[in-house]
Formats: sequence, C-alpha cells, structure tokens
Amino acid sequence: MNEKPEHFIVDGKRLDGRRVDELRSIKIEIGTLDRADGSCYLEWGNNKILAAVYGPRELHPRHRQKMTRSVVQFRYNMASFSVDERIRPGPSRRSIEISKVSREAFEPVVFTKFFPKTSIDVFVEVLQAGAGTRTAGINAASLALADAGIPMRGLVSACAVGKVDGELVLDLMKEEDNYGEADMPVVMTAGGQITLLQMDGHLTTEEFYRALELAKTGCDKVYELQRQALIKKYSEEYTAEIEDEYIEDAAPEGDADE
Ligand code: UDP
Repeated sequence: MNEKPEHFIVDGKRLDGRRVDELRSIKIEIGTLDRADGSCYLEWGNNKILAAVYGPRELHPRHRQKMTRSVVQFRYNMASFSVDERIRPGPSRRSIEISKVSREAFEPVVFTKFFPKTSIDVFVEVLQAGAGTRTAGINAASLALADAGIPMRGLVSACAVGKVDGELVLDLMKEEDNYGEADMPVVMTAGGQITLLQMDGHLTTEEFYRALELAKTGCDKVYELQRQALIKKYSEEYTAEIEDEYIEDAAPEGDADE
C-alpha cells in the first residue's frame, strides 16, 4: 500500500497535478464484447473496467420471476490481479455491498415494467483498480445498458467527492481515497436526481452541500463524455448501415447471386 503523503494539495495542485475540481482522464469504448447484448470498456485514471449486459432474458429459477416487471441483477467483481495485493477470487462483503448499491442506483431509471418475468443482468469486471471503481463500474454499466437497448429514463452518471487537507476535491485518486478525511460517491441522472449517495468519513453540513454541488459538476462532465461516446458509436454504425443499404440499392439486378 502507498504511504500516507504529508500533504495532498501543494500550490493548488493535487498529487497527480490536478486541480481540486478536475476529473482524471476518461476513455470510453462502447460495444466491446460480441457476445453480450450491450457492453462498455471504460478507463478512468488507473481504473480499467468492463461492463456487460445480457437481457431482457427469461429469469431462472422461475420462482424468482416477477409477474409485473423485470428483475435487474448486478454483479460487481474485482479480478484478483486488479490490485497491488492479490485479492481472493469470488464474492466478498465489499463486492456484495457494491453490487447491491449499484443495482439500486439503476432502479429509478430502468423501465422494468416493459419486460415481466425476465431478468436484465449487468456484470461489472474490474480489471485494474485505482480508486473509484464503483463509480467507474456504474458509468460503464449505464452505457452497456444503453448499448443493449434497455429502455431507460436516461443514463446515470457517477463521480466521487472527497476531502483532503481540509479541502473538498473531485474524483479521488488512490492516496486521497485511502488516507483522505471523507469519500462520497454520488450517482445522478442528467436532471440531477440522486440515485445513490454513500459517505465514508466526516463532512460538516455546509461541506456536505458544497460536496454535492461539486459532485454534480463531476457527474455533468461524465454525462457529457458518456453521451459523446454513444453518439460516436451509433452515428458510425448508422452511417455504415446507410452505406450498406445504398450499395445494395445501387447494385445492378442479378448482382445479388454473385
Ligand atoms: N482496494 C484494494 N483492495 C481491495 C479493495 C479495494 O486495493 O480489496 C483499493 C482499490 O484501488 C479501490 C480502492 O482501494 O479502488 C478504494 O476502494 P473502495 O472500497 O473505497 O471502493 P471504490 O473507491 O473502488 O469504489
């Protein structure tokens, strides 16, 4: 584990050179996996995350089916090689908790009533962890659900706010997460409706409201990147489809058999 640094902020800059309200760099690729109905690979700072969505599909065992809606299942898993100190494969208290809160973060936005008796299965695999894996996983899952064509009120976007050296900072890195005074992951819709808020550490009431504002700016930036990634993927696909149709239409009669 890294040593606790003496100072987290020097001359307005954090350990990795960011300002207090700056995000780590984010890279998004949608539709990475051929066999999933929807998927997304996301890098956020040192995090490398893969999200896959399957469904809506018939839920087994049948006694778990709901007559009036689909059941959203969410599995967050950290690969044993994703962190410095190898972790035991399989579920842990932490991964069960993260799976539960992540599933709940999607409950207000997924139109589950459209698909009775089915399940929508979301898998988040953390390939490399570097603080904020739950928020990164939720951002990737949000895009994988959209990629799978699951009807939703909108995307959700996630970002953490924390406190180090007595100052609020956006999007914690590893040292800030491990040794900071507070860590508050937040998930929001584009309209600012909070679907998940957790807090570890201490903030005053005034700090809490400021932290929420800062989280909103982070979620807005993430939302914009998610939106751009979807537009890129689907405009490219749409253009390719139109071109194919154009070529088919333009082909002279009889060419189809050749
Ligand atoms: N971490 C680790 N080993 C573990 C769990 C977590 O090294 O078994 C690291 C990992 O980098 C993770 C960070 O600690 O991103 C913070 O973990 P936390 O439980 O706060 O969740 P996260 O911030 O990833 O959502």
